[in-house]
Amino acid sequence: MRVNENILISSLTTMRLGGPARYVLEVETPGEVADAYGFAEQYRLPTFPLGYGANTLGHDEGFNGVIIINRMQGIADDFSADGVRLKVMGGEYWDNVVAHACEKGLTGIEALSKIPGLAGSAPVQNIGAYGQQISDVLESIDVYDTASKTYKTLSNSDLNFNYRESILNTTERGRYFVISITLKLNSGEMSRPFYNSLERYLSDHSITDYSPASIREAVSAIRAEKLPDPLEKASSGSFFHNIYVSDEEAEKVEEKGYPIHRGKDGNKINAGWLIEQAGFKGKLINGIRVSDKACLVLINESAQSYNDLAKAREEIVGKVYDKFGYWLKQEPVELQ
Ligand SMILES: Cc1cc2nc3c(=O)[nH]c(=O)nc-3n(C[C@H](O)[C@H](O)[C@H](O)COP(=O)(O)OP(=O)(O)OC[C@H]3O[C@@H](n4cnc5c(N)ncnc54)[C@H](O)[C@@H]3O)c2cc1C
Repeated sequence: MRVNENILISSLTTMRLGGPARYVLEVETPGEVADAYGFAEQYRLPTFPLGYGANTLGHDEGFNGVIIINRMQGIADDFSADGVRLKVMGGEYWDNVVAHACEKGLTGIEALSKIPGLAGSAPVQNIGAYGQQISDVLESIDVYDTASKTYKTLSNSDLNFNYRESILNTTERGRYFVISITLKLNSGEMSRPFYNSLERYLSDHSITDYSPASIREAVSAIRAEKLPDPLEKASSGSFFHNIYVSDEEAEKVEEKGYPIHRGKDGNKINAGWLIEQAGFKGKLINGIRVSDKACLVLINESAQSYNDLAKAREEIVGKVYDKFGYWLKQEPVELQ
């Protein structure tokens, strides 16, 4: 286990905000996870499991506690009659997992290409994009349970997945440390219809090969147009959740001209559209830029502190509520 002291959270998170964390422990074997929690217990400090920091916001005062990062890597394939299982260690970079699956012609996660982060964090908020979400293919996760101090396997149904939700970021937040994840994928082509913008891209580019590799390429191209590369621009991707409404409400707001996306996960109002209509597209508020390509994305151009971000968030949330009557819910997690 590597023990680091006084590390700036801004250097561990893609929004690049946040003061020093007292300890950052990097665990390299399952056994070290228990040691890391034991370390925190010994010093009576709170813990926070962190991955790549692409969905986490640091505060100016830092964190007087122990951040634990999964550095275990490796992907093991298991081919059997009912599909292919990939057992992925939680410290593996998520997009390497997608690349690995696509190279083998496996389908189920190709639309989740280029989502920044580690594999161990992927089930936490049930990552999703372009019509796929990890809960569709996740079979189980291996965890360390801090409540019982034991190692366990949790199945898909134990995790109670929903839109950007699982027990890991709701009812049991902080209880389990994810060591590895097991995905069950299939061979062959992805089935149509695809997500609207993906369909449009495929038809505009006359692409009729629906192999995992070609869908990965298409998704990567769409994302590169719209979303900031975290290595170049500080952001945490979508800053707010989209809004899901009942059939009745969807009809009502559609009559008012709101675009509704009807998918297998429900009737979605794109929160980015609400932000754009509220007049924020491309706007700079306290050093935080509302992306002009995807209004759901806030970019930290020159914010001096977490407070600058909080003020920008307040302005956006308040105006969207005044105009449309919907409260926007923040997606990134607060490290505190
Ligand atoms: C440019 C950009 C684009 C994005 N696009 C998408 C997208 O299309 N779809 C989408 O769903 N998300 C998207 N995101 C959000 C982000 O990529 C995902 O949430 C990703 O899963 C975060 O991974 P991470 O390793 O960075 O997690 P972190 O931010 O490090 O952690 C996120 C949460 O997981 C917990 N956690 C981390 N590791 C563990 C562990 N080992 N055990 C238990 N809990 C743990 C943390 O405590 C925290 O609550 C985007 C972000 C950016 C910056």
